[in-house]
Amino acid sequence: MVIAQNIARLRAEIPRHIKIVAVSKTMPADKVQEAYNAGQRVFGENKVQELLEKHPVLPADIAWHMIGHLQTNKVKFVVPFIRLIHSVDSFKLLFEINKEARKINKRIDCLLQIRIAGEETKFGMSIADAVTLLDSDEFKNLDNIRINGLMGMATFTDDRTRVKNEFLKLAEYFNELKSKFFLHDPSFAELSMGMSGDYDIAIETGATILRIGSLIFGERKKNY
Ligand SMILES: *Cc1c(COP(=O)(O)O)cnc(C)c1O
Repeated sequence: MVIAQNIARLRAEIPRHIKIVAVSKTMPADKVQEAYNAGQRVFGENKVQELLEKHPVLPADIAWHMIGHLQTNKVKFVVPFIRLIHSVDSFKLLFEINKEARKINKRIDCLLQIRIAGEETKFGMSIADAVTLLDSDEFKNLDNIRINGLMGMATFTDDRTRVKNEFLKLAEYFNELKSKFFLHDPSFAELSMGMSGDYDIAIETGATILRIGSLIFGERKKNY
Protein backbone atom coordinates (compact mmCIF):
# COMPACT_ATOMS: atom_id res chain seq x y z
CA MET A 1 0.00 0.00 0.00
CA VAL A 2 2.70 2.46 1.01
CA ILE A 3 4.66 1.73 -2.16
CA ALA A 4 1.60 2.39 -4.35
CA GLN A 5 0.99 5.67 -2.54
CA ASN A 6 4.61 6.72 -2.93
CA ILE A 7 4.49 6.02 -6.67
CA ALA A 8 1.19 7.86 -7.07
CA ARG A 9 2.54 10.89 -5.20
CA LEU A 10 5.70 11.05 -7.32
CA ARG A 11 3.80 10.48 -10.57
CA ALA A 12 1.41 13.32 -9.73
CA GLU A 13 4.28 15.66 -9.02
CA ILE A 14 6.72 14.78 -11.80
CA PRO A 15 6.02 16.02 -15.35
CA ARG A 16 4.70 13.22 -17.59
CA HIS A 17 7.53 13.32 -20.09
CA ILE A 18 10.06 12.45 -17.39
CA LYS A 19 10.61 8.72 -16.82
CA ILE A 20 10.93 7.28 -13.33
CA VAL A 21 13.24 4.32 -12.77
CA ALA A 22 12.23 2.65 -9.49
CA VAL A 23 15.54 1.66 -7.91
CA SER A 24 14.80 -1.67 -6.26
CA LYS A 25 18.31 -2.66 -5.11
CA THR A 26 18.26 -4.58 -1.78
CA MET A 27 14.47 -4.85 -1.99
CA PRO A 28 12.96 -8.36 -2.16
CA ALA A 29 10.95 -9.45 -5.21
CA ASP A 30 7.60 -9.03 -3.44
CA LYS A 31 8.29 -5.30 -3.00
CA VAL A 32 9.08 -5.02 -6.70
CA GLN A 33 5.85 -6.86 -7.45
CA GLU A 34 3.98 -4.38 -5.26
CA ALA A 35 5.37 -1.47 -7.26
CA TYR A 36 4.55 -3.32 -10.48
CA ASN A 37 0.96 -3.79 -9.31
CA ALA A 38 0.81 -0.02 -8.80
CA GLY A 39 1.69 0.45 -12.47
CA GLN A 40 5.47 0.83 -12.32
CA ARG A 41 7.24 -0.95 -15.18
CA VAL A 42 10.81 0.36 -15.12
CA PHE A 43 13.16 -0.86 -12.39
CA GLY A 44 16.84 -0.18 -11.74
CA GLU A 45 19.39 -2.42 -10.05
CA ASN A 46 23.06 -1.79 -9.37
CA LYS A 47 24.33 -5.36 -8.97
CA VAL A 48 24.31 -8.07 -11.62
CA GLN A 49 23.69 -10.81 -9.07
CA GLU A 50 20.50 -9.13 -7.83
CA LEU A 51 19.30 -8.52 -11.37
CA LEU A 52 19.78 -12.18 -12.21
CA GLU A 53 17.85 -13.26 -9.14
CA LYS A 54 14.88 -10.92 -9.59
CA HIS A 55 14.45 -10.83 -13.35
CA PRO A 56 13.24 -14.47 -13.77
CA VAL A 57 10.74 -14.38 -10.89
CA LEU A 58 9.03 -11.12 -11.83
CA PRO A 59 6.72 -10.17 -14.73
CA ALA A 60 8.32 -10.41 -18.16
CA ASP A 61 7.21 -6.93 -19.25
CA ILE A 62 9.37 -5.19 -16.65
CA ALA A 63 12.04 -3.00 -18.24
CA TRP A 64 15.20 -3.67 -16.22
CA HIS A 65 17.84 -0.95 -16.13
CA MET A 66 21.41 -1.46 -14.94
CA ILE A 67 22.41 1.64 -13.00
CA GLY A 68 25.53 0.49 -11.13
CA HIS A 69 29.10 -0.24 -12.12
CA LEU A 70 29.20 -3.15 -14.55
CA GLN A 71 32.25 -5.42 -14.79
CA THR A 72 33.12 -6.58 -18.30
CA ASN A 73 33.08 -10.25 -17.28
CA LYS A 74 29.42 -9.93 -16.23
CA VAL A 75 28.14 -8.22 -19.36
CA LYS A 76 27.12 -11.50 -21.00
CA PHE A 77 24.68 -12.26 -18.19
CA VAL A 78 22.63 -9.07 -18.52
CA VAL A 79 22.73 -8.45 -22.27
CA PRO A 80 19.94 -10.98 -23.05
CA PHE A 81 17.30 -8.98 -21.16
CA ILE A 82 18.58 -5.56 -20.06
CA ARG A 83 16.66 -2.57 -21.49
CA LEU A 84 19.10 0.23 -20.70
CA ILE A 85 22.59 0.34 -19.20
CA HIS A 86 23.09 3.71 -17.46
CA SER A 87 26.62 3.08 -16.30
CA VAL A 88 28.91 2.76 -19.30
CA ASP A 89 32.14 4.24 -17.99
CA SER A 90 34.82 2.95 -20.34
CA PHE A 91 35.44 2.05 -23.95
CA LYS A 92 36.37 -1.45 -22.85
CA LEU A 93 32.93 -1.94 -21.31
CA LEU A 94 31.12 -0.53 -24.33
CA PHE A 95 33.15 -2.81 -26.62
CA GLU A 96 32.24 -5.83 -24.49
CA ILE A 97 28.53 -4.94 -24.51
CA ASN A 98 28.68 -4.65 -28.29
CA LYS A 99 30.45 -8.01 -28.60
CA GLU A 100 27.94 -9.87 -26.43
CA ALA A 101 24.98 -8.14 -28.06
CA ARG A 102 26.23 -9.12 -31.52
CA LYS A 103 26.37 -12.78 -30.51
CA ILE A 104 22.62 -12.76 -29.91
CA ASN A 105 21.78 -10.30 -32.66
CA LYS A 106 20.62 -7.51 -30.36
CA ARG A 107 21.24 -3.80 -30.02
CA ILE A 108 21.68 -2.56 -26.47
CA ASP A 109 20.73 0.95 -25.38
CA CYS A 110 23.41 2.61 -23.26
CA LEU A 111 24.09 5.87 -21.45
CA LEU A 112 27.59 7.17 -20.90
CA GLN A 113 28.16 7.80 -17.21
CA ILE A 114 30.00 11.08 -16.80
CA ARG A 115 31.82 12.07 -13.63
CA ILE A 116 30.37 15.37 -12.42
CA ALA A 117 30.83 15.06 -8.64
CA GLY A 118 33.89 15.67 -6.50
CA GLU A 119 36.75 13.28 -6.02
CA GLU A 120 34.87 10.84 -3.82
CA THR A 121 33.20 9.18 -6.78
CA LYS A 122 35.09 6.39 -8.44
CA PHE A 123 32.99 5.68 -11.49
CA GLY A 124 32.18 7.59 -14.61
CA MET A 125 34.32 8.96 -17.40
CA SER A 126 35.45 12.53 -17.91
CA ILE A 127 33.83 14.52 -20.67
CA ALA A 128 37.19 14.52 -22.47
CA ASP A 129 37.22 10.71 -22.43
CA ALA A 130 33.66 10.67 -23.76
CA VAL A 131 34.64 12.94 -26.67
CA THR A 132 37.66 10.77 -27.47
CA LEU A 133 35.49 7.67 -27.43
CA LEU A 134 32.76 9.11 -29.65
CA ASP A 135 35.34 10.50 -32.07
CA SER A 136 37.18 7.21 -32.50
CA ASP A 137 36.98 4.91 -35.53
CA GLU A 138 36.52 1.96 -33.18
CA PHE A 139 33.32 3.51 -31.86
CA LYS A 140 31.90 3.91 -35.35
CA ASN A 141 32.21 0.16 -35.88
CA LEU A 142 30.04 -0.74 -32.88
CA ASP A 143 26.76 -1.68 -34.53
CA ASN A 144 25.20 -3.52 -31.61
CA ILE A 145 25.04 -0.68 -29.13
CA ARG A 146 23.29 2.65 -29.22
CA ILE A 147 24.16 5.69 -27.10
CA ASN A 148 20.92 7.17 -25.82
CA GLY A 149 22.39 9.93 -23.68
CA LEU A 150 24.23 10.59 -20.44
CA MET A 151 23.99 9.61 -16.79
CA GLY A 152 25.49 11.39 -13.82
CA MET A 153 25.46 11.40 -10.05
CA ALA A 154 25.86 14.59 -8.07
CA THR A 155 28.04 14.88 -4.99
CA PHE A 156 26.39 13.46 -1.86
CA THR A 157 25.89 16.72 0.00
CA ASP A 158 23.26 19.00 1.55
CA ASP A 159 24.62 21.84 -0.57
CA ARG A 160 21.84 22.15 -3.12
CA THR A 161 23.60 24.87 -5.07
CA ARG A 162 26.51 22.54 -5.62
CA VAL A 163 24.21 19.74 -6.77
CA LYS A 164 22.45 22.13 -9.13
CA ASN A 165 25.73 23.27 -10.64
CA GLU A 166 26.80 19.68 -11.20
CA PHE A 167 23.52 18.82 -12.95
CA LEU A 168 23.79 21.99 -15.04
CA LYS A 169 27.27 20.90 -16.05
CA LEU A 170 25.95 17.50 -17.15
CA ALA A 171 23.16 19.15 -19.14
CA GLU A 172 25.79 21.32 -20.83
CA TYR A 173 27.88 18.24 -21.69
CA PHE A 174 24.76 16.63 -23.12
CA ASN A 175 24.18 19.60 -25.44
CA GLU A 176 27.83 19.67 -26.42
CA LEU A 177 27.88 15.97 -27.38
CA LYS A 178 24.48 16.23 -29.05
CA SER A 179 25.63 19.00 -31.37
CA LYS A 180 29.03 17.41 -32.00
CA PHE A 181 28.09 13.77 -32.56
CA PHE A 182 24.33 13.16 -32.50
CA LEU A 183 22.69 16.11 -34.22
CA HIS A 184 20.81 13.83 -36.60
CA ASP A 185 20.29 10.97 -34.17
CA PRO A 186 17.01 11.33 -32.26
CA SER A 187 17.86 8.41 -29.98
CA PHE A 188 20.50 10.51 -28.18
CA ALA A 189 17.87 12.14 -26.00
CA GLU A 190 18.18 11.01 -22.40
CA LEU A 191 19.67 12.69 -19.37
CA SER A 192 19.57 10.35 -16.37
CA MET A 193 20.15 12.35 -13.21
CA GLY A 194 18.40 12.89 -9.90
CA MET A 195 17.68 10.50 -7.03
CA SER A 196 15.39 10.66 -3.99
CA GLY A 197 17.26 13.56 -2.40
CA ASP A 198 17.76 15.74 -5.45
CA TYR A 199 15.19 14.79 -8.09
CA ASP A 200 13.51 18.21 -7.91
CA ILE A 201 16.82 19.87 -8.83
CA ALA A 202 17.29 17.33 -11.62
CA ILE A 203 13.87 18.17 -13.08
CA GLU A 204 14.72 21.88 -12.96
CA THR A 205 17.97 21.31 -14.82
CA GLY A 206 16.66 19.10 -17.63
CA ALA A 207 16.59 15.46 -16.52
CA THR A 208 14.55 13.08 -18.67
CA ILE A 209 15.09 10.05 -16.39
CA LEU A 210 15.04 10.06 -12.58
CA ARG A 211 16.39 7.10 -10.57
CA ILE A 212 14.37 6.93 -7.37
CA GLY A 213 14.79 4.30 -4.67
CA SER A 214 14.10 5.23 -1.07
CA LEU A 215 11.21 7.59 -1.82
CA ILE A 216 9.40 4.62 -3.37
CA PHE A 217 10.54 1.63 -1.31
CA GLY A 218 11.59 3.28 1.96
CA GLU A 219 15.05 3.51 3.47
CA ARG A 220 17.56 0.80 2.69
CA LYS A 221 19.98 -0.77 5.13
CA LYS A 222 22.88 1.59 5.80
CA ASN A 223 26.17 1.39 3.93
CA TYR A 224 24.72 -0.12 0.83
C1 LIG B 1 20.77 3.67 -5.17
C2 LIG B 1 20.88 4.48 -6.40
C3 LIG B 1 19.88 5.42 -6.74
C4 LIG B 1 18.65 5.70 -5.90
O1 LIG B 1 18.97 6.21 -4.65
P1 LIG B 1 17.84 6.82 -3.68
O2 LIG B 1 18.55 7.90 -2.96
O3 LIG B 1 17.40 5.73 -2.80
O4 LIG B 1 16.75 7.35 -4.53
C5 LIG B 1 20.03 6.11 -7.94
N1 LIG B 1 21.10 5.91 -8.75
C6 LIG B 1 22.07 5.03 -8.46
C7 LIG B 1 23.20 4.85 -9.41
C8 LIG B 1 21.99 4.28 -7.27
O5 LIG B 1 22.97 3.41 -7.00
